[in-house]
Amino acid sequence: MGQSRTVAITVDDLPYASDTPKPLGLEDAKTAMAENKKMLRVFSQKHIPVTGFVIEQNVERIGNDAGRKILKTWINAGFDLGNHTYSHADSNTSSVDGFEQEIIQGESTIGPLLRSVARKPEYFRFPYNHTGNTKQKHDAIATFLAARGYRLAPCTIDNSDWEFDTAYVLAIRRHDHEKATKLLVDYLSYTAAEIDWYSKLDKQVFGYEVPHVMLLHDNRLNADILSSLVALFEQRGYRFVTLTDALKDPAYSTPETFITKFGPMWGYRWASELNVKVSGSDEPDPPTWISAYVKQTLAGSN
Ligand SMILES: [Zn+2]
Repeated sequence: MGQSRTVAITVDDLPYASDTPKPLGLEDAKTAMAENKKMLRVFSQKHIPVTGFVIEQNVERIGNDAGRKILKTWINAGFDLGNHTYSHADSNTSSVDGFEQEIIQGESTIGPLLRSVARKPEYFRFPYNHTGNTKQKHDAIATFLAARGYRLAPCTIDNSDWEFDTAYVLAIRRHDHEKATKLLVDYLSYTAAEIDWYSKLDKQVFGYEVPHVMLLHDNRLNADILSSLVALFEQRGYRFVTLTDALKDPAYSTPETFITKFGPMWGYRWASELNVKVSGSDEPDPPTWISAYVKQTLAGSN
């Protein structure tokens, strides 16, 4: 029974997410390298297949050499890389042409890197999971992606890790160890609640638990807590599979015609496609102190 639960891990915003109001810069290259090493060590030790989604502009921001080096580390360790646009573009506010340029430019580093090992970028993940806020835009981008050989990378579980990470980085900078420790505890229990909540949601839609796709971000928080995060899945009997294997489940062949300007997890989209009534109102929210802490800390530093 336990063995039938599977999850594919995906990590967005490579080579490193900007986790503060300040954009990434050349000075972040060293940190980015160290944090990626920490994450990859855990994934490798536990034999967890991972797909990382790259923002080309973040490669440029930490310097092309450092950026490429980090991405090479992922490839050399056997992990896959996908396209996450050039500048983390929001399709809600982009034209179709503009968004297509973002996709093409998003290949600048990963294209040649993957070709050097006889592979190519196979998966595309929309920033914010904004898959097209009008039918015309949604369909045009989907057609463009398919013609360029991409498969859409859906996701079924998120845990607002970017929000926790912003607070975590601020706490560390202020040497506020008490807050940082409390945050790690709350982050893990929130993630556990979200895993359980989304597995219930998907079961409501299909009558069985679909192979999950977990959305994480390439940040300091996840690098610091990754073993415990992985343990949440292990404790629940999940086996780690590749994105390609997860997507073999028939659930992922559900037509994709749901048009929204929001970026819901796929359980909500499937429910809408299949006319299954579900409610998101009891989905757990991150503890309110997290965003309050960020607000208060940033206000205090001005
Ligand atoms: Zn992203």
